[in-house]
Amino acid sequence: MFNLICGKIQFVCRRAFALKSASEYLKRVNTGRAGVVTFAAVMEKVKCLIIGSGPAGYTAAIYAARAGLKPVMYTGPQPGGQLMITNDVENYPGYPEGRMGPEMMDDFRRQAERFETDIRNEMITRVDFTGPVHKAWSESGAEIHAPAIIIATGASAKWLGIPNEERLQNAGVSACAVCDGFFYRKQEVAIVGGGDTAAEESTYLAKICSKVHLLVRRDEMRASKIMQERVMNTPNLIVHWNTEAEEVLGQDVVDGVRIVNNKTGEKSVLPVTGFFVAIGHKPNTDIFKDWLTLDESGYIVTNPGRTTTNIPGVFASGDAQDKIYRQAVTAAGTGCMAALDAERYLVEKGF
Ligand code: NDP
Repeated sequence: MFNLICGKIQFVCRRAFALKSASEYLKRVNTGRAGVVTFAAVMEKVKCLIIGSGPAGYTAAIYAARAGLKPVMYTGPQPGGQLMITNDVENYPGYPEGRMGPEMMDDFRRQAERFETDIRNEMITRVDFTGPVHKAWSESGAEIHAPAIIIATGASAKWLGIPNEERLQNAGVSACAVCDGFFYRKQEVAIVGGGDTAAEESTYLAKICSKVHLLVRRDEMRASKIMQERVMNTPNLIVHWNTEAEEVLGQDVVDGVRIVNNKTGEKSVLPVTGFFVAIGHKPNTDIFKDWLTLDESGYIVTNPGRTTTNIPGVFASGDAQDKIYRQAVTAAGTGCMAALDAERYLVEKGF
């Protein structure tokens, strides 16, 4: 529900922002019918377009702006990226006391704006990398031409694909404990996953909920040692090893989850009102698949030690190209690399 409301508010804000900034590159055309207007897109030329706005995108923007590239950034549907739904970030250097993910992203954004990055809260929905000048289209119809494009589109939460999981989203099923945990105060909930996200979110939920069931499909967790220790030391957090969720139960809202022990085949029902999924992420690279080399999981393939891709002038950074480290600090690092690579490329090619 919280997600839904935030989504709607963000959508309205995005729209408002899009219409405001659109004045620079969209022409309002009256169709002649009362009250009905359309927008005719006008092509805009920029030096450096940044697609995406997590740590990678904002860092790329800071470096590109300071290098005089006047970057234009399209933030995507969740400005700030995954850290906007993250709790305390304790491992980003420079924040000795830790920082809430959304606050950190606000810091990043303000720093990018300080150097006059043109930030637009909108999505790029289509690209054409025929080159040498690349093209991108926004959801409101703007057509951007840029010789250098930095991709920082990040990754999105994965789902299990079990019965009722999709139908009951926003009615008890969620992929973001930090966003939705509040609605399950003093209630019993389940969460699936064995990585750092599941460990972090399950301990977060344990502070709010009466009981938390963590469903781990193997007999060990992938999460870091310190996070596992937190899980094991949380009294109202019960770990179910070798356990998978088979079906979410409930008519209008979640009222249980059917689980199975994959070693013994034993099935049971947990009487939970909230069902959280924390099993990793999928890179947001669909719009690039016809142009860029992607690996078998959809991550953009970059040249070793660089952010260059198979298309000259297109650079990839952050979680869209990193399935190994996937940290805010590594994303920021590759964002910096992408801006430096883009700057050198533009100079070399005389743009
Ligand atoms: P991971 O890919 O690390 O872990 C995914 C987990 O979900 C694994 O335990 C996996 O099981 C399990 N899983 C996957 N598919 C299924 C399925 N169909 N059914 C049941 N379980 C499934 O993703 P995370 O999101 O946890 O972490 C991503 C990265 O972000 C990591 O590098 C992590 O360290 C980092 N991170 C860091 C944080 C921090 O430092 N504060 C917080 C959160 C994330 P299996 O192990 O069997 O494959």
